[in-house]
Parts: sequence; structure tokens; C-alpha cells
Amino acid sequence: MPAPPPGKLPKDYDKLPVPQPQATSVRKRDPKLLAVIDPVKCFGRGCEYCIAVCPVPDCITLVPDPQAPTLHVCSVNYDTCIGCMACEKWCPDDYDAIRMLPFAQVIKDREAYETPTFSVDIPYE
Ligand code: SF4
Ligand code: SF4
Repeated sequence: MPAPPPGKLPKDYDKLPVPQPQATSVRKRDPKLLAVIDPVKCFGRGCEYCIAVCPVPDCITLVPDPQAPTLHVCSVNYDTCIGCMACEKWCPDDYDAIRMLPFAQVIKDREAYETPTFSVDIPYE
């Protein structure tokens, strides 16, 4: 993972878990939760901590930002996410771009939750 820019180090950055790729990226059962990334909040951050900590290979990838296609934001593969919450934990608090939402809720309206076609209001406390 590239070094983050000075002044942007999240708390406990040095304790970031090293990604542990699984033997297979095919999950054996549906998870209870899926990680949903709000592209508006991820936009322009470029920190990619979520990609660094995700244990599933290629589960989080960079895709063109739906609002600014020359830039990139992160996107979660809902077919491989295992709901481990690592990305939500490590997305910096001041960016706060990831929420864990119920699997059934996301899959039922999948297009609205996919980054390229994102159109839902995620609750932020
Ligand atoms: S919840 Fe876990 S498996 Fe899913 S995208 Fe986040 S880090 Fe990856
Ligand atoms: S989702 Fe969060 S951790 Fe991932 S690149 Fe965007 S701001 Fe950084």
C-alpha cells in the first residue's frame, strides 16, 4: 500500500492489519452484512485503506466516479464481500464513507447500492 499523505494518517495506522488473502474468494454462505461505500463521501479521498485491509482479493476496487468519470472511487463486489467490517473500521472517521448494511436490503435493490449507479441515502449518525 502506498504511504498515505502526511497529516492524513488515521489513528493506529501502524496497527493496520495485513490483508490475509483467502484460499478462495468464493464465499460459502451469504453474509449477514455487506459493506456499502457512499461514492460522494469516498470521492477524492484516494486513501484506499479499505482496499489495503480487505481480506478478500479484488473485493474492493477502484471504479470511475459516477459524478466525475475521470476520477475514481471505491466499489465493493457484493458477490464476494464476506461482511467482515474491516473496511468500515479503517475508513477514516472524517471520511466515513462505508456502512455495513443488511445483505437482503442491499441485494434486493442492488443497482441502487452499486457504486456506478449509487442512488441511496445512507444513514449517518
Ligand atoms: S466487509 Fe470485509 S470483505 Fe467486505 S468489502 Fe469490507 S473488508 Fe472486504
Ligand atoms: S472508502 Fe474510505 S477507506 Fe476507502 S478510499 Fe474511500 S475514504 Fe478511503
